[in-house]
Amino acid sequence: MKIIQHFVGGRSFPGNSNKKGKIFNPATGEQTAEVKLATKKDVNEAIIIAKKAFVEWSNKPPLQRARVMFKFKELIEKNADELTKIIVSEHGKVYEDARGSLTRGLEVVEFACGIPQMLKGEFTENVGSNVDSWSIRQPLGICAGITPFNFPAMVPMWMFPMAIACGNTFVLKPSEKDPSCSMRLAELFKEAGLPDGVLNIVNGDKEAVDALIENKDVAAISFVGSTPIAKYIYENCAKNEKRVQALGGAKNHCVVMPDCDLEQAVNGLMGAAYGSAGERCMAQSVAVAVGNIGDKLVDALSKKVEALKVGPGLDKQSEMGPLVTKEHLAKVKNYVDIGVKEGAKLLVDGRSFKLQGYENGYYMGGCLFDNVTKEMRIYKEEIFGPVLSVIRVKDFDEALNLVNEHEFGNGVSIFTRDGDSGRTFYNKAKIGMVGINIPIPVPMAFHSFGGWKRSLFGDQHMHGPEGVRFYTKLKTVTSRWPSGLRSDPEFVMPTMK
Ligand code: NAD
Repeated sequence: MKIIQHFVGGRSFPGNSNKKGKIFNPATGEQTAEVKLATKKDVNEAIIIAKKAFVEWSNKPPLQRARVMFKFKELIEKNADELTKIIVSEHGKVYEDARGSLTRGLEVVEFACGIPQMLKGEFTENVGSNVDSWSIRQPLGICAGITPFNFPAMVPMWMFPMAIACGNTFVLKPSEKDPSCSMRLAELFKEAGLPDGVLNIVNGDKEAVDALIENKDVAAISFVGSTPIAKYIYENCAKNEKRVQALGGAKNHCVVMPDCDLEQAVNGLMGAAYGSAGERCMAQSVAVAVGNIGDKLVDALSKKVEALKVGPGLDKQSEMGPLVTKEHLAKVKNYVDIGVKEGAKLLVDGRSFKLQGYENGYYMGGCLFDNVTKEMRIYKEEIFGPVLSVIRVKDFDEALNLVNEHEFGNGVSIFTRDGDSGRTFYNKAKIGMVGINIPIPVPMAFHSFGGWKRSLFGDQHMHGPEGVRFYTKLKTVTSRWPSGLRSDPEFVMPTMK
């Protein structure tokens, strides 16, 4: 059986113990590898290596760091097919979707290529007579990333290219369910010229995460995953005096107004609810049907959900792949059982879906609920599977209240032809990322990604300008040369005369 080790100091690192997890191919249900799970000692060794590497890397001119980024970008492009197949083999999503997610990660690398421009700082000549002042952003030191299973390339790439371009060194702990893509990215980064020890990967579970949080040499932690763990990371990083951004779960609404282009809304919803088998933090799991659009919406959706092509990710015909694990499949099906018991109307039931030749794969068909209410667990909780709930409301205000009262605030969208509704909606929505006739409003790499409310703990979003701020600290220098104005000792606050 293949064993996935750690990647520390530019090479494969077996660690000090034999603690291991299992990796499966969700399309077939076969175990394909074992992954080492790092102990506290393993993590601490990786941190020592990252600390040594920081001295030289942080001193490299930003332009030289950018050149390594350019090379890394080229290597990702050259190896995109291989990386995509790795994602499909451990996550299960369909090839084109996996490729798209890799591209969204690559775009962060492209943004990081411009790091010299972003680190330029600000300068004011003559803040006082012959006194100059400037602000610069310096790297933090060792940063760490802890990432979820659902985007094994993109989410790690939200973090480490930005941190490293800013002059930090990095320890990544990917999801123990699909770590191989991160391992391959680290090898490619080394091939691009990244010095050993700048990017390290420790595979592992809670023990590895806790070791990162407790180690005093780790300056900052970026986390993406479920809300309970995000909250845990946020609280414990604060206790350990670390900078932290912890992105959590979601329940994204799509408000469908009676005046919208229904076909556009339905197609948007299909991709956003069932793409990646609903295992996206920006998946739309609630369709809010406003006024009299409900029957038409549900009718159109039912037909499309029934026709959804479910199959292995490498089959070009598949629109939706399997779920990530057997346990997750059972959890999602259980939510559908709960919805039925709660009294929601199950219009399309994908629970008993089976695929000939792939009987052990983790498949289910798409599910569609109508008449969902806000008291139901299937509305309140994140299901993270191919289950769309339709909730009917009388007007725009009721739809907006519904969105704003939900505990999560990651993404939301509205389908309408009315500019006023669109504008009022984006202005009033208590949500981090808003789409107007755009079903999945994931910001580009040169903007920043992040939710509000219990979808993000901390105050900086990921990548883009917010990423630069997160991975650097501000220093402001005030300077006068001896030839400038001389003065006697002053015992009062300096002010401009
Ligand atoms: P998860 O919270 O189970 O795991 C995320 C990471 O935390 C993994 O690396 C895991 O090893 C680690 N972890 C798990 N349990 C832990 C514990 N008790 N203590 C310390 N660390 C622990 O999430 P997941 O199932 O891998 O991913 C799905 C979740 O991630 C969903 O809730 C989804 O909405 C969320 N997500 C959010 C975003 C976002 O941008 N807000 C993006 C992607 C995924």
